[in-house]
Amino acid sequence: MNYYVLTLFPEMIDAGMNTSITGRAIASGTISLESVNIRDFAEEKRKGRVDDYPYGGGAGMVMQAEPVMRSYEYVCGRIGKPARTVYLTPQGSVFDQKMAEEFAQEENLIFLCGHYEGIDERVIEEIVTDQVSIGDYVLTGGELPAMVMMDTISRLVPGVLSNSDSAVSESFSDGLLEYPQYTRPEVWRGKSVPDILLSGHHGNVDRWRREQSISRTLEKRPDLLDSAPLDKNDRKFLRKLLEMQEQT
Ligand code: SAM
Repeated sequence: MNYYVLTLFPEMIDAGMNTSITGRAIASGTISLESVNIRDFAEEKRKGRVDDYPYGGGAGMVMQAEPVMRSYEYVCGRIGKPARTVYLTPQGSVFDQKMAEEFAQEENLIFLCGHYEGIDERVIEEIVTDQVSIGDYVLTGGELPAMVMMDTISRLVPGVLSNSDSAVSESFSDGLLEYPQYTRPEVWRGKSVPDILLSGHHGNVDRWRREQSISRTLEKRPDLLDSAPLDKNDRKFLRKLLEMQEQT
């Protein structure tokens, strides 16, 4: 997986991504990251300036089309072919785990980060294949959203997580929230780890975790249950929970 980020603040991307798990994945070559400073592609006469006033008036500045286009062309030249290009925008489709799984199949991904009031629409029309939002709120720039996407996608790239199981059982991966986790000590400030986790009976532990996932999802995100793949036992357990809910 090769990431290319078109941004006015490459130092923000580099600092965030070269840390912890993604940092190790970059160092080992499992993923690669190139942050490209759009400012380096500013027109000569504008001396590094890449924004201008909006036509029609209004508050703020707008990033110009030409430096963005040039930085994109530079990256396409490096890759050798056009690649899927994501514009981070509050107006895009809201990012989720399913989208991450789909993006994780790509070999190259280009992220375009806006700033100020956004980017001249004409270059967005020209180069962008996907518009993605990380939620219904407005940030100052696309750098954090790009990092949110890269972090999530990276966890699905083989070799990035040391224990590949951990991406399989996590929240959303099977349509449910993950079960609660515990580690040593066995008793912490008077609170014990559930007995079943100490039983050594893998079948019972798996069933308990599955039921915890279902009850957590019902409690915190019942909307997910509509599309979660539940088997006969799961549905029976869910019915029991719903009956108990009705009685209280
Ligand atoms: N004027 C734009 C609008 O109303 O749609 C918002 C511009 S915002 C201040 C500056 C940049 O931050 C955007 O171009 C986008 O790249 C990024 N951004 C802000 N909120 C975002 C979100 N929720 N998801 C993804 N990107 C976001």
